[in-house]
Amino acid sequence: MTKHQAEQGCGGEPLSVLVVGAGVAGLTAAYRLAQAGLKPLVLESYPEAGGLARAISVGGEKLDALYHHIFTSDLAYLSLAEELGLKETIEWLPSRMGFWSEGRLWDFGTPASLLKFGPLSAFDRFRFAWWTFYLQRCRNAEAFEGVTARDWVCRHMGARVWEKVWEPLFRQKFSSMAGEVAMVWLWGKIALRGRSRNRSGMGESLGYMKGAFIRLVDELVGKIVDHGGEVLFRKEVQRISQGEGGHFCVEARGASFRAHSVLLAIPARDALRIAGELMNDDERGKIASLRSTGALCTVLEMKHSLSPYYWLNVADASMPFGGLIEHTNYVPHSRYGNRHILYISNYLFPDDPVFKYSQGRLMESYVPALKRINQAFEESWIMKIRHFRAESAQPIVDQGYRERIPPMKLSAPGLVLCSMAQIYPEDRGQNYAVVYGERAAKLLIARCRAA
Ligand SMILES: Cc1cc2nc3c(=O)[nH]c(=O)nc-3n(C[C@H](O)[C@H](O)[C@H](O)COP(=O)(O)OP(=O)(O)OC[C@H]3O[C@@H](n4cnc5c(N)ncnc54)[C@H](O)[C@@H]3O)c2cc1C
Repeated sequence: MTKHQAEQGCGGEPLSVLVVGAGVAGLTAAYRLAQAGLKPLVLESYPEAGGLARAISVGGEKLDALYHHIFTSDLAYLSLAEELGLKETIEWLPSRMGFWSEGRLWDFGTPASLLKFGPLSAFDRFRFAWWTFYLQRCRNAEAFEGVTARDWVCRHMGARVWEKVWEPLFRQKFSSMAGEVAMVWLWGKIALRGRSRNRSGMGESLGYMKGAFIRLVDELVGKIVDHGGEVLFRKEVQRISQGEGGHFCVEARGASFRAHSVLLAIPARDALRIAGELMNDDERGKIASLRSTGALCTVLEMKHSLSPYYWLNVADASMPFGGLIEHTNYVPHSRYGNRHILYISNYLFPDDPVFKYSQGRLMESYVPALKRINQAFEESWIMKIRHFRAESAQPIVDQGYRERIPPMKLSAPGLVLCSMAQIYPEDRGQNYAVVYGERAAKLLIARCRAA
């Protein structure tokens, strides 16, 4: 199918499957659909593929626009990478975690560092370690669904552990809704992360794809095309309706398409906006009840390193960001033309005025804060700044979330939703974009075979 043939308008011969969104989920689904001979058409609003896993270039090397790594427990992602011939590109590198609290840096995330972690008393450190160990071994998600993380942590680990460790971390991810997040989210994080530790429990090996995770995305696009499918960019889908004969009419910027089935591999709220008229009240109500924080991510290319840590949790409400991810303390900076790469992470609700701040205005608050972390830091260290915004970045998993997850198979026959908000009880991530993308493809293949 050529681009010309695809843009036939709502009166032409219908496509079997149209996929909205060329993120990891949409592309994985489209790849499986293409393998099944269904020649999917993928429409993506952005000029490039990858969604949240898209890439930029630094010193001639690709780099994730938003920081990414994978865990050894990300089996679906690893298996897809192997299938695409990319297994050897994944490097398992040690990572070092730090914690900014009470005006100084602390080592964090290993048993040895916990012994010296000053913000907690010896008794609180023991309770923190004991219950973390317990959570790592627990397999029953349901036990943690009806209670907030705040209540569970205060009851078991103690109020000071919540106040000094978890509350600042939750505030960084969930903003003003930190206290409403269900314990099941924290359980999922601890149980999964525990499985990525080495045997001694002293360190953590995280996976990075040499040449950035965009390699898997590019490989998927190539395979979809090889199998007769197509991926079109700058094609924002604005409305999906159902015409005569039950075919979907997909209106994108400057073109419209007819299809037997449609996969919405986009944030659930966007799916509601463009295809809400095809959903029933229950589906619309569920999607409308879901909330997520957006991410502001500023990427600095610098002459020097800021701290010794790859992942620095900033547990200090007076700081304008919640995390600093120094990528080149994980992957060597020689790969990026000797530039040190620092991601500044800030999760906010998209209606927060700061979310719309210009890069310049944000940097006015970020620069003095970076100087607090490392007094030697000078603005002249910064060689280049890039700034990214993602409106739907982190679903807020609150109590009763399971009941509010919209189904994949929507009530309009042939309309399927595959969104980050459906991932449960695990947290979002490329691995689950693969898992859920494959699940969505299975539903569509079954429908096409039954027709
Ligand atoms: C700051 C940050 C850090 C992260 N770190 C990690 C990490 O370390 N490890 C990890 O595994 N995961 C990480 N993730 C999560 C990971 O990026 C996501 O889980 C995954 O990429 C989601 O893929 P997706 O395809 O479901 O959604 P998306 O990537 O959101 O893809 C959706 C696509 O649909 C397109 N689209 C939306 N609306 C329309 C429309 N109307 N018409 C056409 N196209 C449309 C979008 O442009 C986008 O390309 C991180 C996410 C963020 C925000």
